[in-house]
Amino acid sequence: MPNQELIRLSQSHLNLLSICPPRFQQVYLDCVGSLPAPEQQENMQWGSRFHLLMQQRELTLPIESLLATDSELDSSLKALIQAAPELEPNPDIWREAEHCRTLGFGNFLFTVIYDLLIAGTNSAIILDWKTYRQPPRFKDLANNWQTRLYLYVLAETSEYTPEQIQMTYWFVKSGTPRSQTFNYTQQQHQQTEQELTILLADLETWLQDYQQSQTDLPHRSHCQQKCPYRQFLAEDNTSDIQHRKWLDSLSEIEEISI
Ligand code: SF4
Repeated sequence: MPNQELIRLSQSHLNLLSICPPRFQQVYLDCVGSLPAPEQQENMQWGSRFHLLMQQRELTLPIESLLATDSELDSSLKALIQAAPELEPNPDIWREAEHCRTLGFGNFLFTVIYDLLIAGTNSAIILDWKTYRQPPRFKDLANNWQTRLYLYVLAETSEYTPEQIQMTYWFVKSGTPRSQTFNYTQQQHQQTEQELTILLADLETWLQDYQQSQTDLPHRSHCQQKCPYRQFLAEDNTSDIQHRKWLDSLSEIEEISI
């Protein structure tokens, strides 16, 4: 590994790496990711404002100026407070917004930021605000590396057993807020550890090959049937033009569900 420095990884890295290593290479190693579309940028800005609002509220800082200029923010906050009893302040339970934790894992360093962590004597709950309208399927969210990594890191860096930890997503931009809650078990914890070990051992090898001999990260074998570029991938793609065309079209791959 370069200079034996720890390489920081988030859930976004893990998600892309597990779905499509070539796209991971394009975005994080070659740094040729595409800019989000204008509508996507607007949603991201609204999401940032909502997260700032929730952080200021937890810190008991003034939030009126944020709410005064955005009626959707105002109505979303009111609806969430009504739907989520855990948001009621309780001086007896420790809690922190934007709570950051790190965990070393071999040559890697995981960083997670919990939108809100509520840590009681015998249980802890991680809360995460999602500011898109349509909640994903429960199974997809359970398999998403955000859920798995957030639960894993808290179990590894605290005294809580996996069974004492929960994670709840609140979908706050969908009229009436909806939530999805994930419990955690020792068995899931071990499974996550095994999968992380395999995924990161692969990444370590691929990074070495990429740096030492400019070898591209490999394709997954199980997604080629679904990949819109499988025909192209099956052909001889050694020409520069074809290769560039393929790289350009990779931006669509994140939408492929495996
Ligand atoms: S087949 Fe398509 S989706 Fe699968 S790893 Fe290759 S480029 Fe990515």
